[in-house]
Amino acid sequence: MTERKPLVVTTRAELNAASGGLLQEAAATRNGVGASAGDAAGPAGPSLGLVPTMGALHEGHEALARTARKDNDVVVATIFVNPLQFGESADLERYPRTFDDDVALLGRCGVDIVFAPPLEEVYPQGMPMVRISAGELGEKFEGAFRPGHFDGALTVVAKLLHYGMPARTAAGPTAYRAYFGQKDAQQLTLVRRMAADLNFDVDIIAVPTVRAADGLALSSRNRFLDEEERAAALTLFGAMRTLAERAEAHEPLELDEVVDLVAAHPMVELDYLDVVDPATLEPLGENCRHTPFTGTALALIAARVGPVRLIDNMVLGTPASTI
Ligand code: AMP
Repeated sequence: MTERKPLVVTTRAELNAASGGLLQEAAATRNGVGASAGDAAGPAGPSLGLVPTMGALHEGHEALARTARKDNDVVVATIFVNPLQFGESADLERYPRTFDDDVALLGRCGVDIVFAPPLEEVYPQGMPMVRISAGELGEKFEGAFRPGHFDGALTVVAKLLHYGMPARTAAGPTAYRAYFGQKDAQQLTLVRRMAADLNFDVDIIAVPTVRAADGLALSSRNRFLDEEERAAALTLFGAMRTLAERAEAHEPLELDEVVDLVAAHPMVELDYLDVVDPATLEPLGENCRHTPFTGTALALIAARVGPVRLIDNMVLGTPASTI
């Protein structure tokens, strides 16, 4: 595994020049020694993995970067806090920024290039007039509580996917993969739909949620929780574990009872807890209530604890890696 300081670039031109150079090197190595980097069944050319982030990196982002490193010849991570996806300006202003630590972490993961564009590089004409619409899927769950969030997130993801698009090399077409966390399940579903619906030539790869030892899903916003709030936040994980255990045992999920339990916690302000079809995010009907659970589903939860809004999810009835 390479462990060197990544090249930090801030413009699209620098990114393309740097990734193009590394891809040519990888192509030459391939021509010399045959296929490498674990995609023997893929195209003959080299591969590029893109890891979009907003910085304030932790072990969850690290899992994305390390997976991308394992799968690809060239790895690009992006750091950009996208104002378009924030509702309240206060949330945007207090979003943690830890750039030097982020670059060091990405270096430890073997990332080749960090693309950290300023606002003017991404939005040279100000906020864009034409945006991606997340449609119906973007209005449920998180979308209902954060209007416009997914339109903003998809718009920047579309731009980043374009920025990262690898050049063709002499060795043939380049495989292009982008890595997203299962932690943001609705975002992942939407990114997959965007890539499929709008014919983006990129494979979207999901990486399982990384949790603290006690089960709390890692998040850049967890640092704002005090000790008591952090303990209360574990209620979310507990609720999903209960549902997962019932699903595993093919028992009725008794979802309403679990919702009531979470809602009764004095420090937890529950926004939603539901059990949905993983592909469509349509709530499951009777299956999750009083009849024995069969099949596969996704539990989605969001709640406010102290100053932080937490989201989490858990796959029910099948290992997370297969979703
Ligand atoms: P963010 O910087 O919060 O926009 O997240 C960048 C990427 O990291 C997204 O694809 C997230 O889903 C992913 N991510 C964030 N937290 C975790 C986690 N705990 N486990 C796995 N992936 C995560």
